[in-house]
Amino acid sequence: MAGASTAAGTIGLSPGLARAGKSEDVLDIAIIGAGLAGLTAARDLRQAGCESFVVLEARNRVGGRTLNYEVGSGHVSEVGGQWIGPGQTAVADLARELDVGTFPTYYKGNTVVLGGDGRLEADLKGTFGSDEAIGARLSELSRNVPAGSPWKSAKVAELDKLSVGDWLARQQVKPEDRSGWNASIGLSGGVMPAKMGMLHFLSMINSAACDYMQLDSIKHSAQETRFIGGSQVLSIRMAQALGKKVRLSCPVRRIANWDREVVTLQTDQGAVRARQVIIAMHPALCHQVQFDPPLPEKRAALQRAWPAHSPARKTAMVYTRPFWRDKGLNGHIFQVDGPIIWAFDNSPPGGEIGVINAFISNAQVPSDHQAARRFLSEIYARAFGSEALSPVSYHDHDWGRADPWTLTCVSAIPPGFWSTHGEALRPSCGKLIWSGTETAEIWAGYMDGAVRSGHQAALQVLNTLRRV
Ligand SMILES: Cc1cc2nc3c(=O)[nH]c(=O)nc-3n(C[C@H](O)[C@H](O)[C@H](O)COP(=O)(O)OP(=O)(O)OC[C@H]3O[C@@H](n4cnc5c(N)ncnc54)[C@H](O)[C@@H]3O)c2cc1C
Repeated sequence: MAGASTAAGTIGLSPGLARAGKSEDVLDIAIIGAGLAGLTAARDLRQAGCESFVVLEARNRVGGRTLNYEVGSGHVSEVGGQWIGPGQTAVADLARELDVGTFPTYYKGNTVVLGGDGRLEADLKGTFGSDEAIGARLSELSRNVPAGSPWKSAKVAELDKLSVGDWLARQQVKPEDRSGWNASIGLSGGVMPAKMGMLHFLSMINSAACDYMQLDSIKHSAQETRFIGGSQVLSIRMAQALGKKVRLSCPVRRIANWDREVVTLQTDQGAVRARQVIIAMHPALCHQVQFDPPLPEKRAALQRAWPAHSPARKTAMVYTRPFWRDKGLNGHIFQVDGPIIWAFDNSPPGGEIGVINAFISNAQVPSDHQAARRFLSEIYARAFGSEALSPVSYHDHDWGRADPWTLTCVSAIPPGFWSTHGEALRPSCGKLIWSGTETAEIWAGYMDGAVRSGHQAALQVLNTLRRV
């Protein structure tokens, strides 16, 4: 942020911005995507004194992969990204600036583990119950894998051949612990360990201060803190301040002349012309845009190959109150090889109503929402008692089906991907600057990474215009 202001000090005198307004139909900057990355970039531009920009958003709402929904009495829950944790200072700073408060994730009490017909309770003390010795080995290995450029690791040849599943198999993980690892990798990568690249997983741990427990737990970890009013409120507040600069229902279909002085973006609401373009979208979605001339082959190949097969399905069961807390339960469920990957207490800060959110295995839960509500509430009744059979409402969001603008929630980068495509992730192409959480130097894939990538893109574009 300070960097953007510094650039602004200079840019105030630059011909790049001085020219803005002379040619009314050519903007200095077009930003594609009104998720956290695009809106952060737009906010920085405005703070830097630049007004010649627009944010083009495909959906009729802002927030991208963050989305609130009303659970009653003015409370919200989230169907997309929701937690932040230690080290995620960019998103925490943004929240403070926007006057959005935070509160701790509820985990006091026993977690229920279901397996077959069995049920047991355990106080996991804010962890996911992972094997600490294996966690320590992962932490140690992650020191060799830079978060923002795993392909530069000295051990790339050795590590990028392996999936996390291959590596775990060598660690003699006990059969009874395998489903715990499946859940853990399923939550952080959206896939089973066999499909997640070891190099990528280690780069994620590297982001978390080289401490596996800081990635995959609640206490002192990436799932520790929630936003009052739900995570989408960050984007909503930024968009409110930007007003008409944000154009909704405006998907960009084609980008022409990105190698010339003025780029033309073809949208469903007509053409937009700009001198610089920030693309704050998921790389796999970039592949759906037509580029004329075609992008350099290395960048195009990265977009084509970027995995987009793990859209999450997240549900919320709403109760009049969090009744499980009275029984010493924290509302969390892990189910061995079952349809529930992880269910957790997602009630509002004061526990005024009770909400159990869950990441579920899509194939194992009926797609019809009424049937899914019955199906899941019966599982919750096994975990928490028969009160769970009487929810007041149910919400079900399958990101893979809701619309075409989120192909995958987090990126499950497979073995071999970074060695082949890593170098093409960030270098700009002509007037196109790549942003979005996937491009962040740390916490890529997370809300924090999205905010960082927005700051970075704003700085880059301001410096570029200053040089024009
Ligand atoms: C179920 C789920 C759970 C998650 N949990 C967490 C969590 O707990 N903590 C965490 O930190 N992160 C979490 N994440 C990830 C986090 O939400 C994302 O990293 C972050 O929101 C990404 O922001 P972004 O701005 O980079 O991208 P996006 O939010 O994807 O924004 C990109 C925007 O571009 C728009 N767009 C796409 N194509 C076009 C086009 N052609 N023209 C115009 N606009 C276009 C999209 O509509 C979207 O609004 C989760 C995500 C999901 C889905």
